[in-house]
Amino acid sequence: MEGINYHSLSDFRVKKKEELDQLFSHLLGVLSAAGLVTLEQVMVDGTKIKAHASGKTFRREKSLQEHLKKAQEQVEALSDPHAEGLSWRQQKAQERARREKQQRMERALQEMKKLQEQKRGVEEKEEVRVSMSDPEARRMKQADGGCAPNYNAQICTDGAHGIIVDVEVTQAGNDFQQLLPALDRVEERLQTPQQMVGDGGYTSRENVEKMAEREVDFVGSLADNASKANGGQGRFPINMFVYDAERNCFVCPSGKQLKYEGKQEKDGQTFYKYKAQKQDCQNCPLKMQCCPKNEKHGRSVVRSEETAAMVAFRAKMATEEAKTQYRRRAQIAEFPNAWIKAKLGLRQFHVRGLVKVKAELLWAGLTFNLQKWIRFLQQQALPVRG
Ligand code: SF4
Repeated sequence: MEGINYHSLSDFRVKKKEELDQLFSHLLGVLSAAGLVTLEQVMVDGTKIKAHASGKTFRREKSLQEHLKKAQEQVEALSDPHAEGLSWRQQKAQERARREKQQRMERALQEMKKLQEQKRGVEEKEEVRVSMSDPEARRMKQADGGCAPNYNAQICTDGAHGIIVDVEVTQAGNDFQQLLPALDRVEERLQTPQQMVGDGGYTSRENVEKMAEREVDFVGSLADNASKANGGQGRFPINMFVYDAERNCFVCPSGKQLKYEGKQEKDGQTFYKYKAQKQDCQNCPLKMQCCPKNEKHGRSVVRSEETAAMVAFRAKMATEEAKTQYRRRAQIAEFPNAWIKAKLGLRQFHVRGLVKVKAELLWAGLTFNLQKWIRFLQQQALPVRG
């Protein structure tokens, strides 16, 4: 019944990560046995949670070196036997605070090197900044358009009863690279889900291909770049142009030829461009329906080449069944995110560093599942009304 100080509580919260992880998996086993987890459909979703750091704590390398030097000097000063005026407890607290600060500065410089390596050739090295408070936090775009130190929380939710089947925290600003690791973790905790559903943030060509290779049905939302290039309101759609494979050209509704202009690779997809002669279009009676805004050029169309997996994915996503499955995503996947933020108040992590924030999110996921389980048990205990 002794009072627990802040550090003991904080250490307990993050030091038992492995045991906590096992407990999370054990509870999933219990929930599966009760029929609350089926893995027929698993929704994956990411949400940004603020890091325990302010945007003002981000510094360039030179500034971090200066802060590290100061922190080292302060730690050295601690060994001064003539330090006076502080109680033993105060001295210990001061010692711990200064050591932690030095460690944070060292960690910040390591993160700086990591980021510089990642951004080599992309951005100027001088622009790389790291937070002194939480070096592992990353500035990420917010829903309101701003930019703040965040972590990217990944949550997988089973479609049957909305149970969380996995949580993870990453430093990635987007979700494209998170789908396959999420699948790996769900497999490790339980087994392979029949279907995974992710929004446009997860739906890349690469992910569609990889999910097909792993024989997991993937439902997502992928923009059709070829349709975009050909579409636009008030223009003839591409299906009004006939492709002549032998001559490698298109024939337009006026019977004119659109000749091959060249190809372009984008996101693993190949686009072939075809263009009509300017004078054909300018003199054409169909111009106002076909390409009303083309003044300097003839109408062009783009043909794209897709892999078998992509063709199958697009055909599937055009069906009503897949659209209905995708529509369930928002309701099921976004509820735990909102609950964790609104009910548990986890809009900002209380701890710093990737390992610790992962533990904090795991606590939140465990709490969410426990309250779901308790509610289920309560419902079972209710007398059946006639
Ligand atoms: S505007 Fe050009 S491309 Fe369109 S139908 Fe007429 S000739 Fe063909």
